[in-house]
Amino acid sequence: MNIAIIAHDAKKELMTQFCIAYCGILSRHNIYATGTTGKMVAEATGLDITRFLSGKQGGDQQIASRIACNEIDVLLIFRDPLTAKPNEPNEATLLRLCDVHNVPVATNIATAEALIHSLARGDLDWRDIVNPK
Ligand code: PGA
Repeated sequence: MNIAIIAHDAKKELMTQFCIAYCGILSRHNIYATGTTGKMVAEATGLDITRFLSGKQGGDQQIASRIACNEIDVLLIFRDPLTAKPNEPNEATLLRLCDVHNVPVATNIATAEALIHSLARGDLDWRDIVNPK
């Protein structure tokens, strides 16, 4: 499966710890990330991560375009709900596209944990049937 990860600055360390904890599961999938998130997670885990631009430079829109093309199966976006972001409208588009294409999406670590266990159990294999690659 193709998993996209994005973390706001205040959540990057949390995302890194999450990916260290679930490295074994994540390593069986293709991981995509915005620039800085991908760099931090790759350095901490050794995971092979396809990195897009930084979110502020359009990396979240690059991920959105892949969601629109049905190329992303799961999105994990750890958001900082306490700080306003210049690219918030882009993120609204990102979440909308997940709804359009029925992409499972987690916006916090609690939901991300539930999704990663579902992924490990094969509960999300229907994505391969709906969106054969
Ligand atoms: P970044 O992008 O991983 O490049 O920092 C995410 C964000 O927009 O915060």
